[in-house]
Amino acid sequence: MKDSAIHAALYGLDRWGQGFFDVLENGDVALKSPLSPDTPAVSLPGIMRDLEKRGIHAPLVLRVGSYLRQSIQQINESFRDAIDDLGYRGQYRGVFPIKVNQQAQVVDRIVEYGWPYDFGLEAGSKPELVVALAHKLPENALIVCNGVKDSEFVELAIHSRRLGFNTVIVLESVMEVDTVIEASRALGIEPMLGVRVKLSNQISGNWAASSGDRSTFGMNTAQLVEVIDKLRDAGLLHCLTLQHSHLGSQIPDVNDVRRAVGEACRYFSELTGEGAPLTHLDLGGGLGFDYTGEKRASENSMNYSIAEYCSNIVETVRYAMDEAGIDHPTLITESGRAVVAASSMLIFNVLEATLYDAPGAPDVEPDDHHHVGDLAAVADYLSADRLRECLNDASFYRNEMRALFRRGNIGIRQMARTEKIHQHLVSRIKALAASHEGNSDIEDELVKLTDIYHCNFSLFQSLPDVWAIDQLHPLMPLQMLDQRPTRRAILSDITCDSDGKVDRFILADGTSPALPVHDLPEDDAYYIGVFFVGAYQETLGDLHNLFGDTNVVTIDLRDDGGFDLLHEQEGDTIAEVLSYVEYDPADCVAAFRALVDNAISRGTLDVEARRPLMKAYRDSINGYTYYE
Ligand SMILES: *Cc1c(COP(=O)(O)O)cnc(C)c1O
Repeated sequence: MKDSAIHAALYGLDRWGQGFFDVLENGDVALKSPLSPDTPAVSLPGIMRDLEKRGIHAPLVLRVGSYLRQSIQQINESFRDAIDDLGYRGQYRGVFPIKVNQQAQVVDRIVEYGWPYDFGLEAGSKPELVVALAHKLPENALIVCNGVKDSEFVELAIHSRRLGFNTVIVLESVMEVDTVIEASRALGIEPMLGVRVKLSNQISGNWAASSGDRSTFGMNTAQLVEVIDKLRDAGLLHCLTLQHSHLGSQIPDVNDVRRAVGEACRYFSELTGEGAPLTHLDLGGGLGFDYTGEKRASENSMNYSIAEYCSNIVETVRYAMDEAGIDHPTLITESGRAVVAASSMLIFNVLEATLYDAPGAPDVEPDDHHHVGDLAAVADYLSADRLRECLNDASFYRNEMRALFRRGNIGIRQMARTEKIHQHLVSRIKALAASHEGNSDIEDELVKLTDIYHCNFSLFQSLPDVWAIDQLHPLMPLQMLDQRPTRRAILSDITCDSDGKVDRFILADGTSPALPVHDLPEDDAYYIGVFFVGAYQETLGDLHNLFGDTNVVTIDLRDDGGFDLLHEQEGDTIAEVLSYVEYDPADCVAAFRALVDNAISRGTLDVEARRPLMKAYRDSINGYTYYE
């Protein structure tokens, strides 16, 4: 293996990369299209240099159209293959749940790439339905409406049938039935209806609460019977053609999928028996994404492939329907995460490093306490196989000296010498540990002494799930992998919040509290990439410290190994962010100007200072919220 491949493997790139990434001989991380594995990979630092030349700076979200196309293709074709292989007599008709990434550039492309598969959209709210209806969809594609619905929502959904949209209103509660009956009478149009069934099966993983009895969504058996009766009385039971059973999110264990689908089929056959002419079975979200590449049933991973998920669903439904003597229904899933997670990455630059390091140690002075000499003497027996012992001894002597200092027995200069000698020893221990295998036993100790790399991003804006629910995303430096990373660091963002840091990293052998990094280059940018952030992160983020949206760039990988810039969305300016929090930027400028003029009147400011002061304020308010 080449050096760069060996060093990239430290981060587990070969495990979680899934054919999307590669590392070049020059040490750059590069993008590969899984659809055409033979085309040359495109260097990510190269892309960043190109974007910098165009005036587009980090931090930015890089979306790769080719990756989105690949995921949509994979999910649809895996269902097709499973349907063919298992002799299923029904079709697959997926929808993309808009809430997982609502950005226009993303939804537009999903509709475009999904066109050959009659891929539709799922709307969980009124604004999302408005988004869905702004798209031309294939004739057979569905729009599935979930979520709490008022009469405006329901009426818009029913109206849209006139334009040829296959808009299904999924009834979430008994109350919604009345709204629907009224609206369809008033408009004189028959709705396409679904019912949301609450499954009792509890799914494991991070989103366990979205399934089972305590889930806040869906109806139980008693409520379902009531819905059927109400629809029959209103003469609308023949409109009820879809059953919706959301399985969950990021389901780690494929056997949970089978169990839940089996239960959904029981409902399907009972509701059919009640006279509902069901033809569509919607299994909601839940298809996982293997963030860590572990391929096992843990919170950020999964023990199955997309193909396995599809064939398990198709097989379970086929058996159940054959047993119940019911025609095989059209299968729908609402995979969000699996469709968009891979297609976006966050890239930021490191601004500076706080190193817990001392390149040299001062000499011991003749009058120093003997512990200073003892401490310095640790260097004499420091070697790769005695790191733990040396670390213990160094902290012992240092702590003894601190105790003496507190009691007033030694002065500040002697204490300063002690700290420096200690820090120098620690630097040498860290360097030895980084370049020799088999020192995991002192990892915990060393973590307290890791460097801090200060990075140009806001965790709260760009990686909200890392902050809120300890989501793990693979993350690594994008360059210099031809050299061994000899430092260990945690990453801190530029918010003034002690939570604004990343201190859990996916590495080759599990998670680690520190990330291997290089010494920062003198003249070049040092970029770090956070991968698989396409699902949920873009709009869940917040404006902590008033850091706004980052720049967003969409590219497509070309067959010749280059890339095309498809779209650029500039990040928020300070003025835009201020307007989100009730400030009028023009008023801010006016208020600042009044303060300046007032200072000139009082004679505390020269009139010549007015112009540069106003320019500085204006330049800031029109600029990017991040470090420029
Ligand atoms: C959130 C949600 C989804 C998407 O789930 P993923 O696990 O991201 O695929 C699908 N359907 C419904 C009803 C949802 O609420």
